[in-house]
Amino acid sequence: MTFAFPPQTAAVPVSGSDALFPVHRIYCVGRNYVEHAKEMGATGREAPFFFMKPADAVLPVAHGMIGEMPYPSMTNDLHHEVELVVAIGKGGKNIAAADAVQHIWGYAVGLDMTRRDLQGEAKKLGRPWCTGKGFDFSAPISAIHPIAETGVITQGEIRLDVNGASRQKSNIEKLIWNVAETIEHLSKYYALQPGDLIFTGTPEGVAAVKQGDLLEASIAKVGDLRVKIV
Ligand code: MN
Repeated sequence: MTFAFPPQTAAVPVSGSDALFPVHRIYCVGRNYVEHAKEMGATGREAPFFFMKPADAVLPVAHGMIGEMPYPSMTNDLHHEVELVVAIGKGGKNIAAADAVQHIWGYAVGLDMTRRDLQGEAKKLGRPWCTGKGFDFSAPISAIHPIAETGVITQGEIRLDVNGASRQKSNIEKLIWNVAETIEHLSKYYALQPGDLIFTGTPEGVAAVKQGDLLEASIAKVGDLRVKIV
């Protein structure tokens, strides 16, 4: 048996190593910070909901480098969403929140880049979010930092500057559904696998970017991520 053509594996660098983390799936959590949920029109604590991006939507950016994200087609309203990304190292279904940490391989800084105009139209018409969320290069991501180095991340500043001006600034402890609870909920719907990435949601302050903008994201104890829109 041979492949008809070489299979392609999306992968993200591992911090402090030559190893690559092979990406299986990218799960994303919607409206997971109170103030962002409000700016998106939500009220009260809703159960977490999920959407996906294709694995090869990752745009890996090694430490100290500036990634280049092409401004996507079919939008005039590309938004940034800075997010803590959890990398899964051990799979499982129906994982209890109390056991979730055993399934975490590491963490990264990610951007859930969004064609907000297409997402808004899809919401209005009851259509899928795929074109608004799951497009090429829609998931810029830093190197993955192993949990053995970072420890368990439950709090710490998360921020994003655009061209040196602060756009998003919050704290991981403000997640509505924390990482452990998110893994518990998500693993009721899907059998998690090694290589899964979970974008855990963005704080308030999402806004548009344009060609030439420099996005500088960071999460305390995890790392940073720099991306230029080209
Ligand atoms: Mn998001």
